[in-house]
Amino acid sequence: MAHIGAMYGITGERVRQIVTILDPGLGDELRAERDRRRQARVYAAAARAVAYRRRLEARATRTEKRCHRCKTTKPLTEFPNNRYQRDGKGDVCHVCNRANVRAHDARRKANPVEPVAEKYCPGCEQTLPRSAFWRARASATGLQCYCIACSRLRNAGLTADEVRQMHRAARLLQSESTGTEGDT
Ligand SMILES: [Zn+2]
Ligand SMILES: [Zn+2]
Repeated sequence: MAHIGAMYGITGERVRQIVTILDPGLGDELRAERDRRRQARVYAAAARAVAYRRRLEARATRTEKRCHRCKTTKPLTEFPNNRYQRDGKGDVCHVCNRANVRAHDARRKANPVEPVAEKYCPGCEQTLPRSAFWRARASATGLQCYCIACSRLRNAGLTADEVRQMHRAARLLQSESTGTEGDT
């Protein structure tokens, strides 16, 4: 109700008075409803926090986990180390991990990387030399889709569209300041 008061330049207390005059008991109902919602939010947040802590504890003390690939529960020693995971172990077991690597090698052999001298970057919309790109072993060209400058922007959380717009704006400003026509 506070924002209604702010809209008309009156205090929250005055708004409550008006509501009470219009319909005695409505003010109390609104207040009770607001309190119920607030309490429900607090309970939900507390429940989430407890569930999260339980999950963390379970992860820290468990001695086995379920492989994401073969869906079998195995002892932790059957999983390769992975320092990015909370329990220090990867998501797939040793057996599946080896199978994944073999499948990846087979795919790589089936379509080998074609080294390219230059590549088009869809972010800055220009063709750049190979050295302007980070390597990406999984891609057909062996290079990442975006150039290093654009990759940094993407990693900083910008969308593909935002990166493109930023470059277009920069090129426009540049062409205006140098007095040349904008590029093609
Ligand atoms: Zn497995
Ligand atoms: Zn780029």
